[in-house]
Amino acid sequence: MNAVESKKIWLSSPHMGGTEQSFVKQAFDTNWVAPLGPNVDGFENDLESYLQNDSHVAALASGTSALHLGLILLGVTQGDEVLCQSMTFAASANPIVYLGAKPVFIDSERETWNICPEQLELAIKDRISKGKKPKAIIAVHLYGMPYDAEAIHRIATEYQIPVLEDSAESLGSTYHGVKCGTFGDISILSFNGNKIITTSGGGALVAKNEELKRKAIFLSTQARDNAPHYQHSEIGYNYRMSNIIAGIGRGQMEVLDKHVGYRRNNFEYYCKHLNDSTDIKFLQEPEGSYSNRWLTCIETTSFELREQLRLALAKENIESRPLWKPMHLQPVFADCDAYLNGISNDLFDRGLCLPSGSNLREEDLFRIVSVIKNELR
Ligand SMILES: *Cc1c(COP(=O)(O)O)cnc(C)c1O
Repeated sequence: MNAVESKKIWLSSPHMGGTEQSFVKQAFDTNWVAPLGPNVDGFENDLESYLQNDSHVAALASGTSALHLGLILLGVTQGDEVLCQSMTFAASANPIVYLGAKPVFIDSERETWNICPEQLELAIKDRISKGKKPKAIIAVHLYGMPYDAEAIHRIATEYQIPVLEDSAESLGSTYHGVKCGTFGDISILSFNGNKIITTSGGGALVAKNEELKRKAIFLSTQARDNAPHYQHSEIGYNYRMSNIIAGIGRGQMEVLDKHVGYRRNNFEYYCKHLNDSTDIKFLQEPEGSYSNRWLTCIETTSFELREQLRLALAKENIESRPLWKPMHLQPVFADCDAYLNGISNDLFDRGLCLPSGSNLREEDLFRIVSVIKNELR
């Protein structure tokens, strides 16, 4: 094997579009290094125009901080219960605990791998019958695949429980033509290094009106009252995005749709070249759903085969990873209640995320597919 062939292939690495540095340079040239500044406003405007649907965006330090403020804005406090999709990254659930509230986990459905409407309704009824109505629902569009928004929001409306939509992995995805990141009472985005666009680290809260956006910004900038001195009537946070970071975001917005296209091409390539195998299955888009295909994931026939593929790829210097380990299986959440149907356990056992960066080259994809095909022979 030559040096080029053995180059490390990452699961999802940052991919700059080219204009990011000019926005950052502008910030330096005008000394808008801090505080805030035109790039933050510009980035928020770019996101609002992209998302449409009367979105009001507050740029923040991370997706996790956006989830934290989102829960606060939905009124979650100490002792409350919050229903949360179990199959997700821990950052979806951790902010519940920051607030002294309790996560209650909900299993997935086969169609999207996201929060199961039946389990969700069962959980709501059960918690209410036990005398405690859940304060919020956290639903996640995992790997870019939209959750069943019609069913989930119908249930949420029926029981009058607000939804915090975790759209960290799904910027660029749509559900019946509507952009993910606009379905929740509050929604969040992430611009972490591995996401579809990145600011190196960052996030955003998407609100339904200007007043909620202003409240999010207020809380994210230390909750300063309107006074010449430093006065505080509420507990604040230091969660605002900086003007430098936002400059990277403005450049990245110019290539977002291109990145979605590249990631969807990766998915098509994998499907086309691995479709012959009965040992591998791909998650298809339900009618009306359009996934950004942030990560292409496969379902294998067994834990053993999944591990065989993962280790064979690793040996060839190719990063792959099991699907998210459900939160109800995480040691840190061992004492939390969960409503389960076995689906997320099963997906975690047999599922594998394949390299999916928007900067993968055809020869990279060829190399990955060759290793997998060789194992399946
Ligand atoms: C990445 C991610 C987050 C957290 O975003 P950060 O910007 O890394 O804090 C939250 N939820 C999901 C599903 C994610 O993938």
